Formats: sequence, structure tokens, C-alpha cells
Amino acid sequence: MTDDVASNLSQVNQRIVAAAQAADRDAGDATLIAVSKGQVEQRLDQALAAGHLVFGENRVQEAQGHWAARRAEHPDLELHLIGPLQTNKVRDAVALFDVIQTVDRPKLVARLADAFDKAGVSRDCFIQINTGEEPQKAGIWPEAADEFIAHCRTAGLPVVGLMCIPPLDEAPAPHFALLRNIAERNEIAGLSMGMSADFEMAVALGATHVRVGTGVFGERQVGYGAAP
Ligand SMILES: *Cc1c(COP(=O)(O)O)cnc(C)c1O
Repeated sequence: MTDDVASNLSQVNQRIVAAAQAADRDAGDATLIAVSKGQVEQRLDQALAAGHLVFGENRVQEAQGHWAARRAEHPDLELHLIGPLQTNKVRDAVALFDVIQTVDRPKLVARLADAFDKAGVSRDCFIQINTGEEPQKAGIWPEAADEFIAHCRTAGLPVVGLMCIPPLDEAPAPHFALLRNIAERNEIAGLSMGMSADFEMAVALGATHVRVGTGVFGERQVGYGAAP
């Protein structure tokens, strides 16, 4: 990783393509989400100048500062919310983001369905699965996943994918495989998994979206520790 966002982007993209090909997948099957939380605005502009248009953010307010104005100049921007969503931020999140990756509880499902209804819009949704069953972490536990997915569908959410953040101190592969298994039995195509340290492994195991922050932009500013 260097300070050069354009060159980091091209290297990460090349590694994604190589990992896909090694796994007999199409090179374009995995989308790179550049995670721009905690980054200075100059780096965001460097990514845009390099032609990158898909970004992820953890916090609604920070994302508004980063992207609300830039969106006007880049109408093709695709923004993914990858951090926890509080119910009082749902309306703002629906206004800004194209994809909500962190659907993780019934109350949020109801609020999202209501917000889509009121705004006359819809947003692709991923359900966050807590594959490591970590009490401090958000996400639906694997054993409850099928029921929750059915609940989201009944409520009218467009469930296009699942996402997970494996425990920091465990090998990620079993978590990626578990996520894929839950997705397959529920006929869900999208898999958001893999970060800077393990995105190639995620691509090998079927990721359709990898979320890479420091690997693209370099270290985050003070106050942002390791992900997540
Ligand atoms: C911050 C974050 C990332 C990016 O992490 P890096 O290690 O910088 O690539 C990916 N996913 C989530 C959910 C995050 O919070």
C-alpha cells in the first residue's frame, strides 16, 4: 500500500481479478467497495479522479459530509452503508445511500420499509450476519438467519445480499463459507465479505462485494481504529 490512491486502486483491482480467475469466476463478478470512512477528502477526490465510483461508509453523518455534494458531480456514484444504522438516522440514510448492508433487527426492517414507502423509493438491502456469534457485534446469528430473511422479504425489503465481519482473531474462511451457505439455501445472490487483509480469500469463496478501506486509501485519521 502506498499514498497513491490511484495506484492502490489498480493494484487491489488486479488482485481481485487474479483471485476471481484462480477460482474460475468471471473477473467482473466481485465489486470493489472503497471504504472511505476516516479519510481526508483529498483521497476521496483522488479515487474519483481515478474513475472509481463505488464507496462504503460506516456513519450516516460522516457520509453526508463526504458525498452529498460530490454526488451532484458524479451521478453514477454508488454508496453502500456498511456500519450500524440507528432508527433515527433511517430517513437520512435512505436519502443518501444506494445500498444498506447492515439490516440486522426487526425494528430497523419496519423503519426501512416505512421510509421506502414514504419517500417512494427502494434501496437494495443486505442482511448482516454475525457469523462469529460475538455478543458485542451487530448482526443476526446464523441459526436465526433463515427466519429473519423471510421476515425481511415479507416486509417488502429487497434482500439482495448478506454481509459479515468475521472475528478479528479467527481465520476468516469458515465465516465466508458459512455466509455463502446461508445465502445459497435462501437463494440470495449477493455476498459482501472480505476487507483489506482477506479480500482475495473472500473472492475465492464467492464474494460479490469486497469492502477495502486502508488497502485503497492508506491509514485512517486519528479516532478511527482497526475495522470495524
Ligand atoms: C472499516 C470497515 C471496512 C474496511 O476495513 P479495512 O481493514 O480498512 O479494509 C470493511 N468493512 C467494514 C464493515 C468496516 O467497518
